[in-house]
Amino acid sequence: MKNEAIKPPADDQSLDSKLRPSRWDEYVGQEKAKTNIRLIVQAAGKRGESCDHILLYGQAGLGKTTLAHLIAKEAGGEMKTTTGPALEKAGDVAAILSNLEPFDILFVDEAHRINKLVEEILYPALESRKLHFVVGKGPSARTFSLDLPPFTVIAATTKVNLLSSPLRSRFGATVKLEYYGDNDIEKIIERSAKILEMKISKEAVATLARASRKTPRTANRLLKRARDYTDVYENGAVSENTVRETLKLLDIDNLGLEKADRDMLKAIILQHGGGPVGVKTLSASLAEDEGTIEDVYEPFLMSIGLIERTPAGRTATEKAYVHLGIELKNKKGLI
Ligand code: ADP
Repeated sequence: MKNEAIKPPADDQSLDSKLRPSRWDEYVGQEKAKTNIRLIVQAAGKRGESCDHILLYGQAGLGKTTLAHLIAKEAGGEMKTTTGPALEKAGDVAAILSNLEPFDILFVDEAHRINKLVEEILYPALESRKLHFVVGKGPSARTFSLDLPPFTVIAATTKVNLLSSPLRSRFGATVKLEYYGDNDIEKIIERSAKILEMKISKEAVATLARASRKTPRTANRLLKRARDYTDVYENGAVSENTVRETLKLLDIDNLGLEKADRDMLKAIILQHGGGPVGVKTLSASLAEDEGTIEDVYEPFLMSIGLIERTPAGRTATEKAYVHLGIELKNKKGLI
């Protein structure tokens, strides 16, 4: 039976899957997360058991899906992929769970969007590997229980606080992925350049890394754009100048800020005296969805110290004024 909630596997030949690390030693950085996860997987392997369910959280593009693939490979199972919103009905999740083979990994992306009905089915499945379902309605309804094979759920989310606490407590380990340091991003770019058979100077790698929002997916995306630029205009190695021209075309500045990030900073500074300003007000000023502000712009701007979050709202830091070349004199609280 075709299950709509299971996504087809990505085309193996696609560039992105070529760049995805397929061995632990290729997975750069995140040492703490890697050590924790490998311990869990190896211990389970030694005991001949399936490994505990794992909840991964962190911003988009930091490597959650990649980790799930690595775990599946080490556990010797197949990885089946779905997403929280794709699991609409209890029947969707029951169909997926009952088709799992021993040691399979079920990767559930956007786990914070799993609805209550589906959660109810998941609790016994996660806890005791049982699927309870009801057949019929009213007084003649009967409850059946199906034993599931040993399997592991790896859930990924960018918003761990939105997961209900009963669901969160069903995971044996909760692992946070952090933004990457420039050195690690440089290593990722160098590795990707090698796979793509590109020549790239050290300076070009460093400039690309600084503009990559501390995120491997962004680093790979910018590297591919720099490759396009070189292939069309230069035909040779990717130089620092090529990278600068590429970033200029993409309207990305030296800190990796895109126009939307700069617009948000300018709105805080120029329209709201540097803050504090609440997300609702900002959303109205920018005509931008609150969720996008909170999930995409804010975490990165905070991570590089351009905004701060206070109980009263977001404020722009002095560094933000300097970066945008705006005088501090209009900042609230300054005489
Ligand atoms: P997420 O699931 O968190 O959104 P992904 O696992 O899809 O992120 O990662 C996006 C891309 O970034 C991957 O295809 C991979 O090429 C690259 N990547 C992510 N993490 C790493 C890492 N630690 N080392 C090398 N490449 C990475």
